[in-house]
Amino acid sequence: MERTFIICKPDSVERGLVGQILSRFETKGFVIVAAELRTLDADTLGQHYEEHVGKGFYDDLVAFMSRGPALVAVLEGPEGTWATVREMMGATNPMLAAPGTIRGDLGTIFTENLIHGSDSAESAAREISIFFPDL
Ligand code: UDP
Ligand code: MG
Repeated sequence: MERTFIICKPDSVERGLVGQILSRFETKGFVIVAAELRTLDADTLGQHYEEHVGKGFYDDLVAFMSRGPALVAVLEGPEGTWATVREMMGATNPMLAAPGTIRGDLGTIFTENLIHGSDSAESAAREISIFFPDL
């Protein structure tokens, strides 16, 4: 089995879409092995988004990601789960994300794109250790 890390971002919580998003993953067959509503601070976000620190969109991203509670969670499934979760999320820009994906069906705003998912097995391990060090 393999684990990956997701965040239902603050826009998901504000818009009441967390249940629908988690339901898609559960219906697919992935298992939620950890989940918690948390308001994320700038330090934690700096670790999580280390590859984006200093980029033009970074300050707006941190302001958005810390403005209210987010749902951080770990999903488990067969090998390749991280990649399938990314497919189900859709492209980063919701206006370009395919219909049928979470971002494609539920959003229009680039920064406020509803969900994060780890982009490799290595990222998943790194991100799980930041948010759920006891797992
Ligand atoms: N983002 C943004 N503007 C950009 C690129 C990214 O606001 O030009 C935000 C967006 O919320 C995205 C996050 O920063 O989900 C991380 O960007 P990344 O390229 O890693 O996209 P993801 O892996 O989330 O699809
Ligand atoms: Mg990314």
